[in-house]
Amino acid sequence: SGGDLKAADVDMVVKQHAPLCMQTLHNALCQNKHLKHGGRMQYGLFLKAIGLPIKEALSFWQTAFTIKTEEQFQKEYAYNIRHNYGLEGKRVSYTAYSCSKIIKENSPSSGDYHGCPFRHFSQGNLEATLYKNKIPVNQVKELMNLVRGSHYQMACTKYFEITHPDHEKISIIEHPNTYYELSLGETD
Ligand code: SF4
Repeated sequence: SGGDLKAADVDMVVKQHAPLCMQTLHNALCQNKHLKHGGRMQYGLFLKAIGLPIKEALSFWQTAFTIKTEEQFQKEYAYNIRHNYGLEGKRVSYTAYSCSKIIKENSPSSGDYHGCPFRHFSQGNLEATLYKNKIPVNQVKELMNLVRGSHYQMACTKYFEITHPDHEKISIIEHPNTYYELSLGETD
């Protein structure tokens, strides 16, 4: 984590470079001005790993949420954000979740937006999302076939290839932050 991203840049970089799971969380946050705990963890740790420093993270979340008072934000949210950055409690600096963790653990319930869209969205919702993101019909079919075969990370990798047609061939996506870095052009 470079630690130089600004809160005001999150919207742009996420829309351009983040995988579908993080786009889903970002859109839900913008629309609802809120995310439940599972979503705040998955998205918050992702943002930390792409280089959002603690000060910017606090500002990002306070702006994104409908917060009544500074006191309410401090009491209900700021501790958890600082905790994720290893500044509270056991002072462990938590790592962003991998795809297999997101796919296998802590399935979303209604009102949750965390998880992997390829694994956790209904077929109808996933198809609608793909069309909304301008994926051509043949490729939507291909992606849905991968999903029906439980090849969620392959579907995500294919989605990357479709949306980055000029990118060199990539290996299978194992981590949302790898997806982001590849999209940004920081290939290792
Ligand atoms: Fe996110 Fe991984 Fe699912 Fe892709 S495969 S949407 S990066 S959890």
